[in-house]
Parts: sequence; structure tokens; C-alpha cells
Amino acid sequence: MKDFLRDAEDALGDAKAPSPSELDDILSRAGDLKGLPLSDAARLLMAEGEDALTAICEKAVEVKSAVFGPRVVLFAPLYLSNYCSNDCLYCGFRKSNAIARRKALSPDEAVEQAKILSKLGFKRILILAGEHPRYSGVDYLIKMAEEIYSRTDVRILHVETAPVSVEDFRRLKSAGFGVYVCFQETYHRESYKVLHPTGKKSDFLYRLSVMDRALEAGFGDVGIGPLLGLYDYHYDALAAIAHSKHLEAKFGACAHTISVPRLKPAEGAQIKDAPYPVSDRDFRKVVAVYRLSVPQAGVVVSTREPAKLREECLLCGASQISAGSSTEPGGYGRSTGGIPREKSTSQFDLSDMRPLPEMAKVIAEMGLLPSLCTACYRSGRQGNNYLHVAQSGNLNELCTANALLSLKEYLLDVRPEGREIMEASLSRFLEEFKGKLKKDVKKKMKAVEKGERDIHY
Ligand code: SAM
Ligand code: SF4
Repeated sequence: MKDFLRDAEDALGDAKAPSPSELDDILSRAGDLKGLPLSDAARLLMAEGEDALTAICEKAVEVKSAVFGPRVVLFAPLYLSNYCSNDCLYCGFRKSNAIARRKALSPDEAVEQAKILSKLGFKRILILAGEHPRYSGVDYLIKMAEEIYSRTDVRILHVETAPVSVEDFRRLKSAGFGVYVCFQETYHRESYKVLHPTGKKSDFLYRLSVMDRALEAGFGDVGIGPLLGLYDYHYDALAAIAHSKHLEAKFGACAHTISVPRLKPAEGAQIKDAPYPVSDRDFRKVVAVYRLSVPQAGVVVSTREPAKLREECLLCGASQISAGSSTEPGGYGRSTGGIPREKSTSQFDLSDMRPLPEMAKVIAEMGLLPSLCTACYRSGRQGNNYLHVAQSGNLNELCTANALLSLKEYLLDVRPEGREIMEASLSRFLEEFKGKLKKDVKKKMKAVEKGERDIHY
């Protein structure tokens, strides 16, 4: 199990930046959409210089477009609780943060938060929490999922919480969670030990093996990602790629998503500055190298990053972004059940505060297609099933069609500001379809106009 870290270390060993002709070779191999061996990924991560970065990013956009088409998936996080029994030195939720205002949402509050997000247009929501036996245990999470699914029109809940046993993963899966996400933070064991001094999370190997347990328990889709800034990014990014390869070899499915979180200041955190700062330039390189190395994975950039960089990331291979996020439990809307909500502590500071309509408009203005789609989870396209469709090259058309249908719903139901540009984008991509599919998507579009919802391929 631990061997994939050895693979990453070996590949990084004495990897050098590629010469221009070697770079061309690697990038042309990346064009066949089969991913890259670790040795190639390591050399791309070592690449320096503006020309090399431009070439890597251009190829990453080409690959992203070949796999997913023009769509960019938008989602929102929903923080349930900031109670935590761990002490990660960088996090505002950590146990020894005496100034933290703690809060765990009640079922009614969680439903209210989910309703706020759904009304804004988010039908896929990522649930998050600190690690606490009472306020983020499996029973609590299942209860929240039951309440949200039965009392709102949210279509899929993904979950990013502490590692659990195979048995508990089975229970989470049965409760209807879609993707299980967990960041390794750093794959460098010694640094991990220092940064996670106490609590369950201090067990490096238990965390490193979490995705093996999730997949064994039947979660078809898992999301991984190191927290950039904690250790040398060359190693951590390569180890994440090696992690995905390990999962694909063992379970037949690569990581469904690779997130690219970067350390941010957090109120009450013990470390304020990243021990290994990652520049914006290197951040973009990591995004592009993930895309080229694991082409079928969603590459996710959160609102931790500033607006301009997030837009640049869409031009180097990112395929999913969050929007209008809050990392504070109860952070959406102004009140809870009519009672003014107590403030709770946020997990870390955010940079890009643009709400969903503005983000969707920016994406359309960039010539891309904003998507609020939940189709894969509704159609059982998960795990190896998903990977087969993605590798066959058919996901591109499916994603575009589903993005258009979800965008149509959004425009009709929310009537967001700036919708003219989104409508223009919708018409343009619709007209680009050919033959039978075009006719069929138009038919489905008419059904959405007549009030049918959740129509997808
Ligand atoms: N508490 C669970 C855990 O740690 O696995 C669930 C995920 S936690 C709510 C979400 C993620 O936020 C963490 O895995 C970590 O990578 C990230 N995070 C924590 N503090 C951060 C900070 N100061 N800046 C950026 N990301 C941070
Ligand atoms: Fe707790 Fe997660 Fe924050 Fe660590 S990162 S202190 S486990 S919420």
C-alpha cells in the first residue's frame, strides 16, 4: 500500500527539467489521454520558465476539453460543524484554538443551509466537518443526509470528513453520499507528524489508506489532494498522482477528483505562513500537471484562491470550482429558523468571494460553459463505469449536453443577473451539436422549459 510513495520518490529522484524537445515529446504523449507515467509527471513538475509553463498549460486545456468539453462544474461546500478533536497546526477548527466559536448545525439548520444553496442553484453540495465523535461521527452525517435529501431538492451530497472504517464507509454510501473526499495534507511522513501532533489524524498510515477503505466499501468515486504549502510541492503533487495510479491499479478507478488546496491564514492557527510557499506560477503548473497525468479526474480549485488565478486555472486544465463559499457552519444566509444565527469560526480565510451568478457569467464570458450538473450520480456513472465512459471519449458530449440542461434549469429557476451572456453561451453550444443528438438535446430542453426537472443523460 505504501509502495506508491516509494514510486513517487523514485520518479522524483534525480528528475530534471525537460529540454524543449523532451518537453514536446512528453506533451505529445499526454495528448493520447491515457495519462502520463510518474517519470514524465516528475519532469513536468520540474519544468521552469515561461515558455515551458505556457506549453504545459496549453496542452492541459486541450486535454481538459477533449475529456470534458467546455463545461466547468460549479459546486458549494456546506460546513456542518467546526468541533474538532484534532490539532492540525494550520487549521482554525483545531482543538487548541481557544478563541474558536464552536457550532454544530442541528438537522433544521442543516436543512435551512441546504435550502439556501439549492435556491441559489446548487443541487450538488459538498458536506464538510471537523473530526469529532459527536458532531461529525457517521451517525450525525447519516442523519444530516437523510434530512437534507428528504426535505430539500438537493440531488447529490458529497462528503469531506475524517477517515472511517470500511464498515462505516458502507453506511455512508448507503445513506446516499456520492464522492468521498479526503486530503492527505502532505504525503511527507515527517512533516505530517509535526503538523498533526495529536488526535486520530496523527496516524499517517490510517489516513494514507483511507481511499482503499472507501473504495473497498463501495464508494465508486473518491477525491484526493495534498494541501499545497505544507511540504515541497514537487513531492506532494507527484505523490498525489502516484496515489491515483495506485487506486486505479487496485480498484480500476482513478481518483474522481484531485483538489488543489493551498494553505491560507486561519484565525487561531498555530502556523500563519506556509513552510513551503507555492507561487501562483507553480500553482498553475500543478493544476496542469494533474490534468495531463490523470486526464479523467476532475481538477478542483476552491475559493481559497484569488479571482484572477482561478480564471487562469480554467485556462490550464481545472474543471471544477466552488463559488460563493462559506467555511463557517451556518455561514449562508442571515438567520436560522427566524432566530439570528450565532457566529461560528471559519476554517480559513477565503479570497474569491464572487457569488454563483457572477462566477457563472465569468465562465460564459471566457467562452466556457457553466455547469450545475449532477447527472453522473443520477445515472450510476461512477467508479470504473465512469472511467470507461471517460476513456472512450464519450464523456465530452455527455458532459456538454448535461451542462446545457442544468444551465437551462438554472436560468429558468433562478433568473440570475447576467443571464443574457449565459443564454448566448447555451445557444452557441447547443447549435454545435450534430444530427440526432442535437435533436434529442433540443427535445429535452423543451421539456425543461415546460417545467420538468433533473433531466439528464
Ligand atoms: N476535518 C476533516 C479532515 O481534516 O480531514 C475534513 C476536511 S477539513 C473540513 C477540509 C480541509 O481543509 C482539510 O483537509 C485541509 O486540507 C483544509 N484546510 C485546513 N486548514 C486550512 C488552511 N488554513 N488553509 C487552507 N486549507 C485548509
Ligand atoms: Fe480538524 Fe480537519 Fe481542521 Fe484538522 S483540518 S483541525 S481535522 S477540521
